[in-house]
Amino acid sequence: MNRFDRQIRVPAIGKNGQEKMMSSTVLLVGCGALGSYCAEQLVRGGIKKLILVDFDHVEVSNLQRQALFVHEDAQNKTKKVIAAKKQLSRIDPTVEIIAYAEHFEQTIFRSLDSLDLILDCTDNFATREVINSYAYQQNIPFIFAACSQTVGQLMAIVPRKKPCLHCLFPNADILGEKACDIQGILTPLIPLVTSLQISLAYKILIGDPSISWETFYFVDIWDCSFQSFHVSKNKECPYCSSSTATSTQLSELKKVCGTDVYQGKYPVSMAPILIADCKNHQGKIIQHPMGVLLIWDTIQLTLFKNGTMLIYGLKEKPDKDAFPQFFQSLQKGRKHIDCQYNHFNNQ
Ligand SMILES: [Zn+2]
Repeated sequence: MNRFDRQIRVPAIGKNGQEKMMSSTVLLVGCGALGSYCAEQLVRGGIKKLILVDFDHVEVSNLQRQALFVHEDAQNKTKKVIAAKKQLSRIDPTVEIIAYAEHFEQTIFRSLDSLDLILDCTDNFATREVINSYAYQQNIPFIFAACSQTVGQLMAIVPRKKPCLHCLFPNADILGEKACDIQGILTPLIPLVTSLQISLAYKILIGDPSISWETFYFVDIWDCSFQSFHVSKNKECPYCSSSTATSTQLSELKKVCGTDVYQGKYPVSMAPILIADCKNHQGKIIQHPMGVLLIWDTIQLTLFKNGTMLIYGLKEKPDKDAFPQFFQSLQKGRKHIDCQYNHFNNQ
């Protein structure tokens, strides 16, 4: 415990708080600007296990604001989670670090250990809505954070009990589309916002009763201004109330910005048909309380129970009108499962 002596001397933490932190497991989604700073603070602050999820590799344009990564990582196009794990292990080799170089929408189909907290360090609202649903389904708290230009936003969320992310942003679809425009971000904004995010994380991990689950924080580093707003639970919210909305029609597919993933809505009545088809064509089927993952050859299709559909591995966007034919084409001639997806069974 000598390593954490100065932190233990902080009355709000103490020996008990430090012991709680050191028995905790945190899932960190997105290992870019927010994620790399959060990961470093968590490992230095002392936790038991950190699970990192990010599909992307390091690029030279990341280095201006993404801690843990160096020029060599960008030159080698190293996966962010691999580069981060290497640096984090050098800071404290006793922290167990698991790295998944994949989309979070794929990670949820793994058997993860019981989690104490999820950190939303992503850069898009499509993934944030999946985090929100996963946190609700698993009854795990998460901390939303986002940065743009000189402003940062964050909120601690426990979706089953208090307002969820969708209560805060009912029009996340529109926000998701806007996020596709590349935004500028000031370098010093990231350590400021992640320090606030990790401060909230400490409170959750040690069970500090002073945490607020109904406060949205807004900070502008250029103005040195800080504001907070009260957020109420929306009784009609389709994500955290009993009136769960499901779609009945296929929507047009939209590419999730910065990824090779397509997202859309599907009629939930279609799920059993697709599952049966997948089975008949020797596809792989992975069930989860939130939905099902179907794998045909190199294509993966996630069908969430709320009617959201995600498709990975497509070379081009299928036309909405051609959707029945698209599904037929998925099924035709796909007798073998690509070995690269076998790792889903091995973890
Ligand atoms: Zn809600």
